[in-house]
Amino acid sequence: MAQVTTVPQSEAAFAQPPNGKPSLKAEETSTTGAPAVSAPTGLSVPTSKPAPLAAGGAVNGGAATSSGPLTLVTDPKTEEKASAAQAHKDGLLRETEILVNRLVDRQDDEGVLIPLKTTMELDEDHIAVDAYITRVPTKCANAAVAMFGTILPKETNEGLPHLRRCAKPADLAPHLKTTFMNDVPGGRQMHTGKSPWVYVLIGVAKDLDSQQLLQNIATIEGIGDHVFLAKIPIPLLPPTSQMQAAMWTQNFWPTIYRKNNPLGPHPSMVSRATDEISQETTKWMKLAHRIAQKGKAARLGEAMGAVIVQREGTKTILVSAAADARWHSRYGVGAKGNSMSHCSLRAISMVAQKLVRAEVTKNYKAPDPRGLAFDALQDLPLLDDERAVYDLEHPSPDGYLCHGLELYMTHEPCIMCSMAILHSRMGKVIFANRMPLTGGMCAEHRGHDNADLVKLGGGRGLGLFWRRELNWSLLAWEWEPCSSTSPLPAVDPCVHG
Ligand SMILES: [Zn+2]
Repeated sequence: MAQVTTVPQSEAAFAQPPNGKPSLKAEETSTTGAPAVSAPTGLSVPTSKPAPLAAGGAVNGGAATSSGPLTLVTDPKTEEKASAAQAHKDGLLRETEILVNRLVDRQDDEGVLIPLKTTMELDEDHIAVDAYITRVPTKCANAAVAMFGTILPKETNEGLPHLRRCAKPADLAPHLKTTFMNDVPGGRQMHTGKSPWVYVLIGVAKDLDSQQLLQNIATIEGIGDHVFLAKIPIPLLPPTSQMQAAMWTQNFWPTIYRKNNPLGPHPSMVSRATDEISQETTKWMKLAHRIAQKGKAARLGEAMGAVIVQREGTKTILVSAAADARWHSRYGVGAKGNSMSHCSLRAISMVAQKLVRAEVTKNYKAPDPRGLAFDALQDLPLLDDERAVYDLEHPSPDGYLCHGLELYMTHEPCIMCSMAILHSRMGKVIFANRMPLTGGMCAEHRGHDNADLVKLGGGRGLGLFWRRELNWSLLAWEWEPCSSTSPLPAVDPCVHG
């Protein structure tokens, strides 16, 4: 009876390509040739799909574009409204420019933006499972595949679309070729360029009975006494880059990269968005740093700051800016401070205040005599810089809270704030410093290589910016500062950002 060969996994087979950023550039082409997704918006994830990647999605908070024939808008009232809205934004762009020139040193040497990996990219990327392969005469390959189709469960038969079903001996991973070449007499002839044999991937081993398979293979025409069955490791999930597919082909089995990323945002979308925000990241980070320092100096809270902007093409309008204020108004504040006054919550809440202000103005309502401020959130300005930004009007007061906006932070937000950011429908988050124990955005489990942090339990990588089970996803980056960003006072790693 023929034996089953088992080939162990080669070392470093799942080694990650170097930092994702350069490889993202190589994959910009979209399979449809259309823009995969407009970058500025957050991506709604209503079902089990990672994100709806339909071309022509929402841009800047909801103005849908259509792929169908264009309809000219002729209603004069609508045109008037649109031009008034544009004039409003143009005015705010000018005001933003004047304010930023006053607040921020504009020697813009760029920092580096590193897109965050999702939990799925980090965890499941490494799942290798055993699969059975066989070797059949090339002329019988189709019949063999059809025969396996009748005996295998549907999910086994169709579950590995990222792996080639058939592989010529010349296309096998080098270590497999060497192993199989030497395991039978005449093996070298079987593995020459014009070999009449082909390898066929049958399916994941745990779903299959090897003895049954050997019997089935023996029935294939022309097999004779060359019944062959081997167990090899394969990557269970699709690759997320061309480079990874090439590495897996070398280490496992011929692998196909289908220019999508089932484990996170589409690489071309990340690449495009990175280019888009990189022009102004330094400017907004410097403002967030300045506000953090002022907040600390005023003893409002930790040295942390957040800035929210709305993108208008290549330019941006300032929407809100807030320092951490957890120690402000100490009455009733616990040992960790008032968690409702973390800088991102304050910044988001100030956006809400602006929307309410716009609504009141639009409807000529008298302001609520009780005022708009909500004490716990400290969502009225406490610093002069916060006030200057707060006094600017909201660029799109009809939109939902922070839909599609960009949030720049000195520190990774805590889990609570990460969920608030998500619920506010933020489009992008960029932060400068990881919080190894308390951050909610990064997907890496952290602190386990640092004795001091391990003592404290280490940090769980939740990667909340992009998770299948949540109904909103956004793009997120870590930012390596440039030399001209003034350093912040140290923050204890146990602090929640
Ligand atoms: Zn927080």
